[in-house]
Formats: sequence, structure tokens, C-alpha cells
Amino acid sequence: MRTTNRQVRPIESARPVDKGASHTVIANAGPWCQNTGQKYRFKALMGKDSRIEWTHHTFNPWWGCVKVSAACDHCYAEAWARRLGTDVWGPHSGRRFFGNAHWNQPVRWNKDAEASGERRRVFCASMADVFENRKDLVPHRLRLFDLIGRTPHLDWLLLTKRIHLVRKQLPKGYEFPRNVWLGTTVEDERSAGKRLDYLLAFKTPSVRFVSCEPLLGAIDLRPYLTKGDRGTRIDWVIAGGESGAGARPMEPHWPEDLRQQCQEARVPFHFKQWGHWGPIDALQSVAGKTAIRIIKVDDVEVRLAGLGKGKSGRELAGRHWDQFPSTHSTS
Ligand code: SF4
Repeated sequence: MRTTNRQVRPIESARPVDKGASHTVIANAGPWCQNTGQKYRFKALMGKDSRIEWTHHTFNPWWGCVKVSAACDHCYAEAWARRLGTDVWGPHSGRRFFGNAHWNQPVRWNKDAEASGERRRVFCASMADVFENRKDLVPHRLRLFDLIGRTPHLDWLLLTKRIHLVRKQLPKGYEFPRNVWLGTTVEDERSAGKRLDYLLAFKTPSVRFVSCEPLLGAIDLRPYLTKGDRGTRIDWVIAGGESGAGARPMEPHWPEDLRQQCQEARVPFHFKQWGHWGPIDALQSVAGKTAIRIIKVDDVEVRLAGLGKGKSGRELAGRHWDQFPSTHSTS
């Protein structure tokens, strides 16, 4: 496996991380999406629009969740909900539910998409996990499935870290319609081993996708990028580093390996962002207080700078990667 054969030394810190600078970034930020680290306007959070590159709209059937994975450690949705004074995180807190005006928004998006002749992608959910296992969520999840069925001009992106619970939480006999893109987050090799077989067991979504964000380790996706006996494969890979306070650095060969794996398997690849820590050239100068981390890959020194996600950018192998799956239902 190419990713694990590499001689990678642990990250060392040349200078202490500038915690103050990180906090300044967060304090100035608007709402963020926990899955993408994307900053966007409050209107966007309510679903009228989204600045997440890979979706047109964001819809939340409710707010609130419980952390289940290393990828959840710095959940932006939790931080944002707390900033708003909403106690909806953890197993003992309630969830925030919404009325008809909220639920009618996708119906309008569907009409607009039909009128324009262009399909629209809806990311569901940025402030929750659709497949969290709680009794009080059941009627809201059923309402969501009904809504998905009534909005055939929208492609619904259901991204979950609880892919092992999805089948159990579907109504008896229900299969996802073709306007569902089902996805799971995979942050490292361990989570890939735990989650991807569950994802690929679903035959009916038009797309099965993987979000490797925040990417916390090297991942070999090759066994899942071709159809093989199971008849399904990963149709789309999104990768990105972590941003915000306490962001964990993404070593540059991790997303690059994913990009190469996707290219070899002809699977579309979307590189979302470097995140807080971006690679810099050995000769490149950065501002005096910028934190630097140094790693060694195959005895070559690689420097990462805590530039913040805006300055770190999203260029990989010299260009942007904004590929999308091609399905009958994509625009
Ligand atoms: S599953 Fe998603 S929404 Fe829930 S705690 Fe983890 S990152 Fe946050």
C-alpha cells in the first residue's frame, strides 16, 4: 500500500502554535459548517443558499448531535450552537426542531430547479447527523424522507458518520430514491475500515460518496474505488484539512495519495481546502508570528504554516480539483 510504505516521521513543532491567533480567527468568523469548516452567512445556514463549493443549499431537519469519532473533536456545529446559546449537544440535551416555514424551503428550491431546468444539490445536514439514534428524531427523519420524495429536482446529499445505523433507521421496505447521494465521513484508515462496507451495501442511491475531511491520516481507498463482486463503488471523494482553533495538520501526501488513487480509478475528486495548516516552500517566507510545523516524508523536510484556511487555499498538485460525479440526476 503506497500510503503506508512511506517513511513518515511524526510531526514536530518548530514553534509553539499561536493559540491566540487561532482564537482571533474564530472570534471574527460567522457560522461554520462542521463537515466542511466553511464560513458562510446566517442566511446560508438557514438553507437559502450555501457557500460550500459542492452544494447549492443546506438543509437541517433539526439541530444537535453527539460526538462519535475523532473527526468530531472540533465540531463547528457544536461550537456554533453553543455561541447561539443553544444547548443541543450530547446525549442528555434536547434537539432543536423547526416549523413548517423551514420545511417548506426545499419545496421552493425544487420548484426553482424545475423551472430553471437545472438540478440543485442540497447538503443535509450541517448542524446534525441525520442518522443519530434517538427516539425523538424518528418523526423528523420520516418527514425528511417524505420531503426527499416530493422534491425530485433536488439531489439530497446525506452525509453521516453513523453509516452502520442507516439501514436500521430506514422504514421497512424503504430504499433510497435516485435523488439521494449517500455519503460517510472517513478521516483515517481505521474509520475507512469500519464504515465503507456499510456505505457500499446501499444499491439505490445514485451516488455513494466519501468525505475525507478533516483528513487525519493516510487512507487506502483502492479496495472501494472499483466495483468488484459487490457491484457498487465509491463514486466521489471529497478531501480537506481541518480549520479553526486547535486544527490538526494534514500531511501533504495524504490528500495527494487520495487524488492519485481517484485518478487511477477514474473516480471524481474534490479537494476542499488545506485548512489551517498549509504547505509552504522551504524558501517561502511567512509573517513573523506564523506557527510552523515540520514533518519529514521519505527524509524530505516538509514545512506547514498556520496561515489559516483562507491563505492556505485549496491548490493541490498545482491546480484546483472540483470534480463531481456524472449521474443521470446531476446537472
Ligand atoms: S457527527 Fe457531525 S454534527 Fe455530530 S458531533 Fe460529529 S461532526 Fe458534529
